[in-house]
Amino acid sequence: MNLVDPKGMMFTERSMKYVNRVVSFSHERIAELFTAKEQLTTMLKLRKLNPRFSKLIEKVFSSIDKSIKEFRATLKEIGILSDSNQLYDITTGGIIDQNGGYISDTNYEHSNNSVLISLADNNIFTIAHELKHAFQFEIGQINFTVGPYSTIDKTDEIEAYVRGEYFGGPHYEKLPSMYNHLPDGPIDFNLLGNYLIENPNELGRFIAGSQIKYAVRVNGITYSTEGKTR
Ligand SMILES: [Zn+2]
Repeated sequence: MNLVDPKGMMFTERSMKYVNRVVSFSHERIAELFTAKEQLTTMLKLRKLNPRFSKLIEKVFSSIDKSIKEFRATLKEIGILSDSNQLYDITTGGIIDQNGGYISDTNYEHSNNSVLISLADNNIFTIAHELKHAFQFEIGQINFTVGPYSTIDKTDEIEAYVRGEYFGGPHYEKLPSMYNHLPDGPIDFNLLGNYLIENPNELGRFIAGSQIKYAVRVNGITYSTEGKTR
């Protein structure tokens, strides 16, 4: 597996074209948003905008600021994933859902200990959505397992859909019905994860009790069915 980061970047080489699309788009949008802000400020100074509209203008300013914040957060998260000792990989194909259709997915690839994003389409908002899940794993917000220890919940999906919306994805109103089975949340794995790691016997029971392969990341260390991997 080829890695491409002078500082030890932990995205695979084949991931970079997808990651770079999200990075470039974020930079472009931030620049545009700052320009819009400047223009609005100039217009205000020149009194081209009726002060009666000040409430509306305030709203526009705060929505611009909110967008800048989201794109900056995206860049920051990608930076954290790049610097991580966990390997992140992106490929195409997706996975087959219950209805026989292809959906995008982020999961743990036990064969090489990577977090694998598999894209069902080429939309930038899909990449942004799945990268959000990768980041959620990186910080221990979600893990990759099913059953009682799964910590993927509705708030994690909402976060990913909202992120996608900033990249041209559909407007988020409610989650698609395929997520109905998820708990509302927020459930974070860190608390349980820390407990398990501080209590190796419990961790052993947890691993032994797992019916399927799982991967969790706590405090910058990935633990998978095979044990501590990174
Ligand atoms: Zn998702």
